[in-house]
Amino acid sequence: MFNVYLFILLLAACKSNDVTPVTSANVADVYKKIYGASSITSDGTFITIKTTGAPDHKSAYYATSNSLYENFTGTTFGGSTFRKNPNSISSLNYTFKIPANPKVDNAHAATPLGPIGVSLNGVPFFNQYAGPSQPLSGEVVSFDQYWGHPAQGGDYHYHVEPLYLTNVKASKSALLGFLLDGFPVYGPEENGAAVTNAMLDAYHGHTSATADYPSGIYHYHINATDPYINGSGFYGTAGTVSR
Ligand SMILES: [Zn+2]
Ligand SMILES: [Zn+2]
Repeated sequence: MFNVYLFILLLAACKSNDVTPVTSANVADVYKKIYGASSITSDGTFITIKTTGAPDHKSAYYATSNSLYENFTGTTFGGSTFRKNPNSISSLNYTFKIPANPKVDNAHAATPLGPIGVSLNGVPFFNQYAGPSQPLSGEVVSFDQYWGHPAQGGDYHYHVEPLYLTNVKASKSALLGFLLDGFPVYGPEENGAAVTNAMLDAYHGHTSATADYPSGIYHYHINATDPYINGSGFYGTAGTVSR
């Protein structure tokens, strides 16, 4: 009898769309907004966030047998006709380690190709390049309806505004994630107005109070203008990511 109840409980648990990440007691509440993480822990120096990087939203890049598969609908980034790339989404084992107390680094190291941060649903942010110093312009037509796409290794990612977060799960002005230097990333609006590049520094951020940091913090903004998420390097000292 016990096993039957346990089975029913497990079934009920599996029905929930959002997994509750396993978090350690010393993790600040703001990191718990990363609802797509399987675990979030802190050693006091680094926040360690584990994710699969696979999106929790529908995509034309899931296998057609996957319940999250959906043929492209909507509008591509830039408005051209959608052209699917040959890759499909894989679940990976990302470990992001970001500073618990982010600090400015005057060297402002360039962001690498590959993951430069993590978004609320666990999908990595990538920078504004398709390859070494190659602009994104040739591949924006392959972004799916939520403006992400997978690379050859099945590693799904966002170079631009993650529409599922800004339109469905959070909002245009909400916290969307963190870059590897530990500084938070916000959406394309602030105080009801669009954030333009003229309001941001060379790293695509500025310092002000936010809903999550009422006493003020440096933060990045994602908007629709190149370089979209980050410009000329990290504002702070970057942590690490492995997969
Ligand atoms: Zn890409
Ligand atoms: Zn701001």
